[in-house]
Amino acid sequence: MRKVVIVGATGSIGRQAAEVVQASDELEAVGLVAGRSWKELLALAETLEVERIALADPGAAALAAEHFRGRVHAGSEGAIELICDAGCDVVLNAAVGAAGLTATIAALGEGIDLALANKESLVVAGELVTALAEATGARIVPVDSEHSALFQLLRGEAPGTVERLVLTASGGPFRGRSREEIAHATVEEALAHPTWRMGGKITVDSATLMNKGLEVIEAHHLFAIDYDRIEVLVHPQSIVHGLVELNDGALLAHLGLPDMRVPISYALHFPDRQDVAVPRLDLAVVGRLTFERPDTDTFPCLRLAREAGRAGGTAPCVLNAANEVAVAAFLDRRLPFGAIAAVVEGALERCEVRAVRHFDDVLAADSEARRVAEELVAGVRA
Ligand code: NDP
Repeated sequence: MRKVVIVGATGSIGRQAAEVVQASDELEAVGLVAGRSWKELLALAETLEVERIALADPGAAALAAEHFRGRVHAGSEGAIELICDAGCDVVLNAAVGAAGLTATIAALGEGIDLALANKESLVVAGELVTALAEATGARIVPVDSEHSALFQLLRGEAPGTVERLVLTASGGPFRGRSREEIAHATVEEALAHPTWRMGGKITVDSATLMNKGLEVIEAHHLFAIDYDRIEVLVHPQSIVHGLVELNDGALLAHLGLPDMRVPISYALHFPDRQDVAVPRLDLAVVGRLTFERPDTDTFPCLRLAREAGRAGGTAPCVLNAANEVAVAAFLDRRLPFGAIAAVVEGALERCEVRAVRHFDDVLAADSEARRVAEELVAGVRA
């Protein structure tokens, strides 16, 4: 039995992870963490018979403690305490945003394997996170479908044989539209993703293509590969999740219907595979698979992410923090869709790039970028 802690348990990935755990004879949930949705977390704890929960919001944790017979950990330290005390074998980190870094550090620092959905952990502190995993011997197995695909394709390939990695992107709801056409897209339009059902933040990131930009940085750290050798291809059917080009010209592809339970199950059971009750892919039914280059004029976030990744140091952290602020403002209807990229670009211009030697450097860059981005959002409104 592998003992699992799910961080971000009340979210889109967290709930699918709970389903995977329930359906598996090999997995047992021993702890659940969320932000503030305490009622949903208690319901989930009851279903999974979990005796430890943590809520980042202290008020929500206090309310949960009045109704829960098990242990409730509270505040930003709560997830750390739970991960360290639960006696788990693997932490599935599906918190949203840079807030997920805490759980990543706690798991890897304790030498606990990490099933990583929270791509922001690698975006903001990639070098430190991978160095920590190396130091403690903990494994990072990606949950993001594209990275799970690449991770599986790369297993068994000798070092030096990989020429290029290709991440596929659905293109989001605004594929084929011009920058002017989507400048004032509504929240409802941005949330109408054509192929994946996900949380609000990542769905907006998919509409701006920032999600793919964050994934390029994630792939750079996970697979220790130069940015020049990571390509993005728009593939609207979301059937091919990743491609690996080898030195003999072979191009390996990983295919499947878009269903996150597959990469979640793979990451939780790794290195084994278990049955997953999902619909099977019938290529004759799909019929056509199409591919095109991304349009970085309409979707500048992809370009900005690559530039920040190449700049290194605190630049990816600034990119991520400014994007979180801009997306939250857009979802709050305080910022037009077309201004998200402008806020990110403005923050990157105004925040000096510094070296990252310690997690404190990341936290300082994150808070400076949030402050600058809030000012920029206010400026757009004025
Ligand atoms: P959701 O918005 O659906 O869920 C986010 C989860 O994070 C919720 O459980 C939320 O709790 C929790 N949370 C918020 N703040 C904190 C905190 N400070 N500490 C701990 N937990 C917190 O997001 P998704 O499930 O869509 O995405 C989660 C992550 O997985 C993101 O990094 C995303 O990029 C990545 N991902 C998602 C995919 C998807 O299909 N959804 C696909 C690939 C990657 P509460 O409910 O209490 O606010």
